[in-house]
Amino acid sequence: MNNGFDNENFQNNTEGTESLNSVPLSVNENNSVNNENVQPTQTVVDNSQVDPGVLAAQKIQENIQNIVNEATQNIANSQQEQVRVVKTDEGSKDGQNKCPKCGATEITLNVANGKLRCGFCRHEFEPEKVEGMEEDISKLSGMVMGSGASNIAADVSEVMTFKCSSCGAEVVVDTKSSMNARCHWCRSILSVNQQIPNGAVPDVVLPFSVKKQEAQACIETFVGKRKFFANPKFKAEFTTNNIMGVYFPYMVIDMNTHANLYGQGEHLVRRYTVKHGDRTETYYDADLYEVGREFDLTINGLTVESSLDKLNTKDKSKTTNIINAIMPFDIENSVKYNANYLAGFTSEKRDTNIDDLKPLVQTQAKDIARNSANETIKYYDRGVKWEREVMDIKGEQWKAAYLPVWLYSYQEKKGDKSLLHYVAVNARTKETMGSVPIHMPKLLIVSAIIELIGLILMLFVLPNENWRYLCLTFGVIYYCVMYARYRNAGARNTYEKETKRNMTDVKALDNFIRHEYRLDNSRMSGANNNSVNGSTVEKSLLEKIKQQ
Ligand SMILES: [Zn+2]
Ligand SMILES: [Zn+2]
Repeated sequence: MNNGFDNENFQNNTEGTESLNSVPLSVNENNSVNNENVQPTQTVVDNSQVDPGVLAAQKIQENIQNIVNEATQNIANSQQEQVRVVKTDEGSKDGQNKCPKCGATEITLNVANGKLRCGFCRHEFEPEKVEGMEEDISKLSGMVMGSGASNIAADVSEVMTFKCSSCGAEVVVDTKSSMNARCHWCRSILSVNQQIPNGAVPDVVLPFSVKKQEAQACIETFVGKRKFFANPKFKAEFTTNNIMGVYFPYMVIDMNTHANLYGQGEHLVRRYTVKHGDRTETYYDADLYEVGREFDLTINGLTVESSLDKLNTKDKSKTTNIINAIMPFDIENSVKYNANYLAGFTSEKRDTNIDDLKPLVQTQAKDIARNSANETIKYYDRGVKWEREVMDIKGEQWKAAYLPVWLYSYQEKKGDKSLLHYVAVNARTKETMGSVPIHMPKLLIVSAIIELIGLILMLFVLPNENWRYLCLTFGVIYYCVMYARYRNAGARNTYEKETKRNMTDVKALDNFIRHEYRLDNSRMSGANNNSVNGSTVEKSLLEKIKQQ
């Protein structure tokens, strides 16, 4: 197999390793580390001839140099990048948008089928798709962006004033929360459809397809399962009557990339226990390999929030991570923006630019690449420690989007502090996540009772069991599990797994380095093939955006 790496034939230099280079990278389904019956697959290397560790070290040096050279080239390439802006508001018109059949301006979304519908004659409009964006992501090159994703100009007002074409009165639209307004005099509806550089008009919108009653049911079910430890004041005040349908702003990114990962991996050979007096210790024997993976990767519809408020998932006063957690959306069904999709809902305008979000998006794209590579390294059941991760972005495409969310919110007051709890429903998929205020005294008392039962068990029921001390953790574990279940402070969008991608042309490097004996970790030390780095926005990015 031509694996694409410049690897010398390792086996020619080392006796006794002939069988090792051809270890198949089969997809090993039985790669559980708990398997007691793992058979050694390798023979022992005769160390008296050549030290394979030294050879491997030389090869690692060479490979690192290759990767560094390539990365330098990539940086040089990306500096010559051209930006192609696709005008996405072609044909859009500000002011009155009239029904072609009857001339009414009362046009709203029919949630049942995603089409706009005239309120008078019931005429339905076929949704329009944005044209001119690249559909085949593997052909994407350079930088492509929708005109709705353009930089926000500081001097453009959020408030827009139109002259009503029926009666001549002035109508004001505050684009911070709404994209249409009714003329006070003649009752016509005026909409903002043309893009102006204030972040309010996106390229695409994904219309609501979940009705208010359905969202109410989702929220009631979610909260209903979390009543026992819920704050009594919250329980008394809870109602879903005033939930809001909100279009939040996002950036949707497609990427055409080439990924190159390089490091070391370990394959479990044997797991065994050794007695030390009356204690038993578990040990592991493993084979260490030099591992490289290189592949083309297209990423479709990676979605990030584009308002500071939602990016700040570590905010101490709001549970914004809840809104992050209900992603992903079926972005592929989004349509050309038209303000009438927003009629009857609230919208929140974008306040960040592409350059602000690029570092986060690149970190997330690398997470997706690392996660994709996991498909090809299942042989390394003790994990892989990537030392170099290079991602060459051949092309990227950015669109600004409004995506639909049903939102319940509840302000919990604790002394002079307060916390805004959300329960959010993805208004396309019905995925629901939330934070429910906890009645702490009750949770603490119940946890203490469980702790006490654990103590009694330990002292009187199981005094001779080796594991009796575990009983002391019962109350603490119960507390942590319940807290997590009500607050969901760690909930997030698992974009590294859920974002659509296509991995092709995989080249693999797998070179045996040495056998390792009596390791005491069940996982390879330093293994990072499951790590995720883009799940929270760095504080420095938030500070930078805020200063603008
Ligand atoms: Zn009509
Ligand atoms: Zn008017």
